[in-house]
Amino acid sequence: MRNFLSFSFLLLLTIGLISCSGEQETHQKEFAIAIHGGAGVISQDIDPEIRDGYLASLEEALTIGRDILANGGTAMDAIVETIIYLEDDPRYNAGRGAVYTNEAIHELDASIMDGRDLNAGAITGVRTVKNPIVLARKVMEESRHVFFAADGAERFADLMDVERVDNSFFNTENRRRALERALEREAVEMDHSSVIQENDKSWKYGTVGAVALDRDGNLAAGTSTGGMTNKRHGRVGDSPIIAAGTYADNNTCAVSSTGHGEKFIRNAVAYQICAQMEFAGKTLAEAARNVIWEKLDEGDGGIIAVDYAGNIVMEFSSPGMFRGAADSDGFFEVAIWE
Ligand code: ASP
Repeated sequence: MRNFLSFSFLLLLTIGLISCSGEQETHQKEFAIAIHGGAGVISQDIDPEIRDGYLASLEEALTIGRDILANGGTAMDAIVETIIYLEDDPRYNAGRGAVYTNEAIHELDASIMDGRDLNAGAITGVRTVKNPIVLARKVMEESRHVFFAADGAERFADLMDVERVDNSFFNTENRRRALERALEREAVEMDHSSVIQENDKSWKYGTVGAVALDRDGNLAAGTSTGGMTNKRHGRVGDSPIIAAGTYADNNTCAVSSTGHGEKFIRNAVAYQICAQMEFAGKTLAEAARNVIWEKLDEGDGGIIAVDYAGNIVMEFSSPGMFRGAADSDGFFEVAIWE
């Protein structure tokens, strides 16, 4: 009898422990993707036409990535194709709609990382590459290096099969006006730091990024930007920096950042989120909240991230962040504000 009671007690304890740990365990998704088009002070009073244009564009970009993953494609292909779409859309400060530097030209940055093996590629200060994310991928896959800058990145592009354009291809009227205003105020303007005002259709936002988990359990992350309006020669933000703007590790998570680049570099934001999961045992949501709200200052920006189980987190401390997320459970959402 005594033995029977001890056995029953042990059995109940085991069942209890299993169900407790079951509660904490997250449901493994087959695939998941999140995208962003920049964080910042995005007024809720923006012209409804502009707002709807952004939402439609985010929806389109998200659909491209989601469909690749749903059809068994890789996380790497999903994020690259999604980012190409966002780079080609002049609404965003990446590729076609890149902001102007102080010298009234465009210098673009991008980075990419493969969570399978921590392989990575990055470029900064490129002037003639239509889709910087494509060149970043080439650095990762076809060179023994990780990061090429300015003239060196252009020379690497000469050796690769990537589409080239004249720098004027990136000219847009809205960004030109943003530069004129910044020059008047002698400001170096974060692309996300102003308000879209009524009657002012200058779109000031839009570093872009994507993170994904595929059916093989691989994570990938990528980020692309024109940087800051009126930035000085050679300024490099966080977007092309592995560990600050982009990070992916199959053991933890994939992250893409957007915001005040200098702060994101100092805090190694993308890596720190994954590291808090690995070394402090935090969930992705806990790690992201800690970094965005405790390590950075309110208003600095935000991140999108997905972990190995397909949990998606889109955390930001700015008033808005253009973003979207979808997964294998049928979840699909695009949003700008809370
Ligand atoms: N992080 C980018 C930079 O500092 C800008 C942004 O995301 O808005 O270049």
